[in-house]
Amino acid sequence: MTNTGELKAFADSITAATSPFRNYLSDLHRKYLPLTDGAVADYIPELALADPSWFGVAVATVDGQVFDVGDCDRTFTIQSISKAFVYGLALEDNGRDYVNSKVGVEPTGEAFNAIVLDETTNRPYNPMVNAGAIATADLIKGKDGTERLKRMLDMFRRYTGRDHDINVPVFLSEKSTGNRNRAIAYLMLNFGMVGDRIDETLDLYFQQCSILVNARDLSLMAATLANGGVNPITGDRALDQRYVQDVVSIMLTCGMYDSSGDWAYRVGMPAKSGVGGGITAVSPGKLGIGTFSPPLDAKGNSLRGIQVCQQLSQEFGLHPFNVAAPPKDLATWIKGGEGLDSW
Ligand code: GLU
Repeated sequence: MTNTGELKAFADSITAATSPFRNYLSDLHRKYLPLTDGAVADYIPELALADPSWFGVAVATVDGQVFDVGDCDRTFTIQSISKAFVYGLALEDNGRDYVNSKVGVEPTGEAFNAIVLDETTNRPYNPMVNAGAIATADLIKGKDGTERLKRMLDMFRRYTGRDHDINVPVFLSEKSTGNRNRAIAYLMLNFGMVGDRIDETLDLYFQQCSILVNARDLSLMAATLANGGVNPITGDRALDQRYVQDVVSIMLTCGMYDSSGDWAYRVGMPAKSGVGGGITAVSPGKLGIGTFSPPLDAKGNSLRGIQVCQQLSQEFGLHPFNVAAPPKDLATWIKGGEGLDSW
């Protein structure tokens, strides 16, 4: 131990390992592990290899404590979860007005890969459907594909505090099977909604979907948003504070595919899921949740992840519109957590 930062990190790790909240998460993990419903995504062979029993739950608080149980170090491809974070980078690169002129903020109720644009503006409806995500990737600046990808990877490092790799076989499969995304992109090119380096942008989109993360990373990404854009462990700013509200709002209205309304009603935490089995969920000012479990429901959301987020929301009062005293007080469960007393 050489400085107070290291001492605090050590003290936090002891707290996280022994806290009643960690035991609570272990119970939650044990409760939902036996669920056998749902199906692992199989539109490319690499995703079909996932073991349906993989299951990790991580919670990171805005004061930098991380609680994780189960398969929280196992990496998987981020897939659509990337869309929310790349949208933040596009806002930083171009400003809100320009981004709004290229990508809307309206939920669709349509499947994520629908070939549909707003009839009056020709914009994709929102950045969470594939059309909007490809238009958003198009807005990421850089002199070539390599530099644009590097800027994305640098951004994810600021959110998670560690370097990220691409799963190359997944990228190549996404690219070779991605004709529907190519069709969407060329439709947008026809309407002048994306620039003409569209093949480079499609590669960038397929690469961003193939970035490897784990459940712990997803909890830190959400906790960074919950903390106003600053990673609560490293202190690095991952997103300009001006755009945190934009990203988190879109997560609430559009983040859970076409069951976003159902999720808002039952869980309420702004969240984003991906077909790799991950969910990242934000409780602003409090914490971030990351879950990983590959079996998906019919809408593409991780079944165990939904159950975990719903139970955490209900028991700790994490729905933003909840005004009743929750059954469990988080500060009491996370004993020793500094700065949580006022919750
Ligand atoms: N890579 C996928 C696609 O573009 C995204 C899947 C997802 O929704 O997570 O089809």
